[in-house]
Amino acid sequence: MSHSASNLEAANTEAVNTDATNTDATIERRQLVIIGSGPAGFTAALYAARANLDVLLLRGAEPGGQLTSTPEIENYPGFPESLTGFDLMARMESQAERFGAELRYGTVTGLDLTQRPYRLSVDDDTTIKSDAIILSTGASARYLGLDNERRLLGRGVSACATCDGAFFRDVEVAVVGGGDTAMEEALFLTRFATRVVVIHRRDELRASKILQERAFAHPKIEFLWNRQVRDILGEDKVEALQLEDTRTGVTATLETGGVFIAIGHRPNTDLVRETLDLDAHGYLVTEPGSTHTGKPGIFACGDVQDPIYRQAVTAAGSGAMAALDAERWLAEQPETASAKTELVAA
Ligand code: NAP
Repeated sequence: MSHSASNLEAANTEAVNTDATNTDATIERRQLVIIGSGPAGFTAALYAARANLDVLLLRGAEPGGQLTSTPEIENYPGFPESLTGFDLMARMESQAERFGAELRYGTVTGLDLTQRPYRLSVDDDTTIKSDAIILSTGASARYLGLDNERRLLGRGVSACATCDGAFFRDVEVAVVGGGDTAMEEALFLTRFATRVVVIHRRDELRASKILQERAFAHPKIEFLWNRQVRDILGEDKVEALQLEDTRTGVTATLETGGVFIAIGHRPNTDLVRETLDLDAHGYLVTEPGSTHTGKPGIFACGDVQDPIYRQAVTAAGSGAMAALDAERWLAEQPETASAKTELVAA
């Protein structure tokens, strides 16, 4: 059977009415819900739809995920000329849709995993019951945690050069961090800023060699080593940073028109913090060699469960794994088979 969006809508409404335990007309019934719309989520949706599952993907608060703010992707196989993160995600989205995945805007605000089928609250006004769930909620930018950082966010403080870089034309800016993201942000900002100062807390970068070399070679980029940002100064917008030398403890002020925080990401696990196993850094734990979380029918893929590789291509790969794991698990569940029959019959 092919799952066109309209067929699924009709089937799912019908399924609601045949659910004996359901008294709320706004409850939808699903076989598989995917939460999150980065490379992991879209790939899981593509594989699940091609396996003829009834699949609904909820895009979440950041449709397309972190990649949508990446200016240039050079290392996604199959695209030797490189492309923007936005274009890559748009391609993944249309590929998933082509095979019948239903993609919907909406953020999951609650997740009840105490009984099956599991219950998802979406934007606080819709409840969806689903046999299986794939968590592909990704990760979000980390901030330094300074009061003035929060106060001046959007007024010189940013965590996304692609989004905000153009506002910093002909000014000096700073980038905090020593990883790939920091190098990419710094290189991108050279298009607008007169000078880009990279502030790193150690004397050695974590970034890949190719990005390091590009940053070192760029005439607009300078490095301040062994420095930690202790405060961000400015009344209505960023004017300067207070920096501490991590070796001597001496503080100094660096004048700057903007500061881009590029110190890594935090996995988005708020929905399942109390119900699923997380590692010491807050990443979802999956069984080795699989995407099973340990709770039946709940799978995790992409950056939310990957503290090591965190690449678009590895996220996509784990999305495919999650769909395959979900498909096999669903096939083994007698009760979910009948749920599918309900959907198909309607
Ligand atoms: P990351 O590799 O974790 O690097 C974070 C950087 O921020 C590190 O240099 C770290 O310093 C620094 N840092 C962390 N907390 C800090 C704090 N409180 N104060 C000051 N500095 C702090 O994160 P990322 O650069 O976002 O990269 C994440 C992953 O995505 C990596 O696997 C990376 O390879 C990948 N990525 C790949 C590409 C690409 O291939 N084109 C582009 C972007 C990201 P220390 O070094 O001292 O720990």
